[in-house]
Amino acid sequence: MSRAIDVLHLGRDRVICAYELDGLVVDPGPTSCVDTLIDRLGRTVPRALLLTHIHLDHAGASGVLCRRYPKLEVYVHEKGAPHLVDPGRLLQSAAQLYGDDMDELWGEVAPVPEARVRPLSGGERVEGFRVAYTPGHAWHHVCYLHEDSGDAYVGDMAGVRIPPYRHTVAPTPPPDIDVEAWLDSLHTIAAWNPQSLRLTHFGHVTDVADHLHRIRSALIEAADSARLDGEERFVARIEDGLREATDPATVESYEQAAPPDQLYQGLNRYWRKKAR
Ligand SMILES: [Zn+2]
Repeated sequence: MSRAIDVLHLGRDRVICAYELDGLVVDPGPTSCVDTLIDRLGRTVPRALLLTHIHLDHAGASGVLCRRYPKLEVYVHEKGAPHLVDPGRLLQSAAQLYGDDMDELWGEVAPVPEARVRPLSGGERVEGFRVAYTPGHAWHHVCYLHEDSGDAYVGDMAGVRIPPYRHTVAPTPPPDIDVEAWLDSLHTIAAWNPQSLRLTHFGHVTDVADHLHRIRSALIEAADSARLDGEERFVARIEDGLREATDPATVESYEQAAPPDQLYQGLNRYWRKKAR
């Protein structure tokens, strides 16, 4: 059984969840939360990070953790690996979204020494996990199936949902969103027949088939809305949906994990690319 660690992003609960299992950490979160992570790891000295992808809310602390734990290895898709070693372009791309808030949101993004990186292509088995290449949210996204338990660690692929609520939002920030690839990746996850899904945002869900249906629907509906409605109505629709389905504190957690204006920007970029 893995441990779910709420790293309390900006002091808020239920935004970013790291998982620890036998000294492996799936998506450690950003450096701005790394003290909470280390504190909650207690005596556990992590031996490897399993990154689903390199977005800063999932993997920003990787370099800082390598500095702290000299033997730590970092599994990541081969397309993401160069940007861990040299985070320049990753930071540039993130700065376009977050501007002056970068430091407060994510903290230091230290490079990961190349010798610690274990590149993945999908299809392999590592550390008791099956790895699948799952593009759609990011071109370098992978998911991990823990073979003994049947738990699937799915990063952002299965959306943002804060149980006990069922409301599910598709996290679609720029620049990599590809709706078709995402739907395909959801089928890859479904074909594993996992017994649970471990979401980064936030926690685990066991109604796997229903949940996968919800994220597919949420993704398709959001894509249609981005194409037809324009930003203002798109954002209002997301916000109304959250307000109707959850409670005010939980709305804050959803929106911190998936800011509605960014969801629009990512889908708008997808449609513009498609039209070319
Ligand atoms: Zn992401």
